[in-house]
Amino acid sequence: MARKAKQLYFTDGNDCWHWLGQMKSGEAVITRNGKRRSAKKYFYQQHHQVELDASDRLKNTCGHKGCINPAHHRVRTDDDRELTATKQWLYILKSSLEKTEQTPQQIAFMTTNIRNRAFPLLKSNDIGLIRGIVKCFQLARTYASDVQTVWLNKQMKWLISKEHSILKTADSV
Ligand SMILES: [Zn+2]
Repeated sequence: MARKAKQLYFTDGNDCWHWLGQMKSGEAVITRNGKRRSAKKYFYQQHHQVELDASDRLKNTCGHKGCINPAHHRVRTDDDRELTATKQWLYILKSSLEKTEQTPQQIAFMTTNIRNRAFPLLKSNDIGLIRGIVKCFQLARTYASDVQTVWLNKQMKWLISKEHSILKTADSV
């Protein structure tokens, strides 16, 4: 007698797939051909008709942690890794600005570094990146010269309006 297929996930109004099956170390896992594998990867491969390497990682694009809808994922790239590393770097910069007094020279050096490293990644429209830069610039103003303050204010204004327009676009989808 054929066993009735168990429901593996349910879908919400966002088309996100919420896993109902097996879990291992916080990851949705599925057993196919006697092998236990990542459910997220399994569905991604099925849906996109691709073979992923063991080293390939998927990046969630819908913002819902735990979602396993293959249409809400893409393969993580070197750019993604650089983005994550840059956000971590901004966090460290922020912490040092909070703890240590800076000279305008140090602020000039820091803003140049942020422009060189973080600004090119703004094309990713990552909210966390924008907020990380704004936080650093806000703190930098405490130690900045008048000229630097004008520049920092201008950048912050631009970054915050960019953040708003990204959030607006995300809402209207
Ligand atoms: Zn989703």
